[in-house]
Amino acid sequence: MNYSKKFIVEPGSSVRLNNFDTKFEKKHVKKKSSKKKTGKLQKKMDELQYRLFAKHKHSLLIVLQAPDAGGKDGVVRHVIGSMNPQGCRVVGFKQPTPEELTHDFLWRIERQVPKPGEVIIFNRSHYEDVLVVRVHDLVPKEVWSNRYEQINNFEKRLIANDTHILKFFLHISKEEQLHRFKQRLEDPTKRWKISEADYKEREFWESYQEAYEDALNKCSSKDAPWFVIPSDQKWFRNLAISQIISKTMKKLHIEFPEPTVNIEDIRRKYHKAVNEGKKQK
Ligand code: AMP
Ligand code: MG
Repeated sequence: MNYSKKFIVEPGSSVRLNNFDTKFEKKHVKKKSSKKKTGKLQKKMDELQYRLFAKHKHSLLIVLQAPDAGGKDGVVRHVIGSMNPQGCRVVGFKQPTPEELTHDFLWRIERQVPKPGEVIIFNRSHYEDVLVVRVHDLVPKEVWSNRYEQINNFEKRLIANDTHILKFFLHISKEEQLHRFKQRLEDPTKRWKISEADYKEREFWESYQEAYEDALNKCSSKDAPWFVIPSDQKWFRNLAISQIISKTMKKLHIEFPEPTVNIEDIRRKYHKAVNEGKKQK
């Protein structure tokens, strides 16, 4: 199945998250075979990223947004972890620092966008400025409501400079979030992730869903699409995201760059070096 088509937010649509499945329990996607497929796609991604890096022309920006315990860290580890760290970087966005707050909201984002040949993953992003900021009235409505257009213009500018943008919303159910909070409590290896804010933010679940819907509907474009990924099942989330990323990279048809030297000349030099080596023996 083509997950790009299945989960894309069509530009100009008006999605309602309630109508989107969080599980995607279809008989034909089985956990075991899907893990195998994901593994193959990861190899593919690694190879395509190597081409992107060598070519040094295009870049890829992957944006991850999700409710708490939605799986952003898991996507980074399992999906993007397969790429070569040379040319790949993860940037997390937390509460803005006092210095960042003196600038406009895109200032700290601009400094982290990919250079040619790079893949950058945003773990949270400029979208926080129309999500948490909106839900908690951190700025007046007149301010945040203007940001959708500013975000679209910003992304258009990146696209015009050969940056490809993929934005993933990891869609989990409220029950699954509570289940993951329970695991965090019970599993000593997960306790470090617990934050007081998790429970506070959960009380705002509906306001967040509305804010996500607006961001998805107002800011999904052909060249910077949003995807709503059913994420209650981690293995399916990983499969869908791996497929979408590798398909996008494949479509770029990136060839290795032409050598910058005269290969015949170099071949002659090589043979000469081999012959001289033989003579010395
Ligand atoms: P975490 O990713 O779990 O470490 O949490 C980071 C926290 O920073 C989350 O609660 C985000 O909502 C918050 N955050 C990120 N960006 C912003 C922003 N622009 N304004 C306010 N809070 C933010
Ligand atoms: Mg957290």
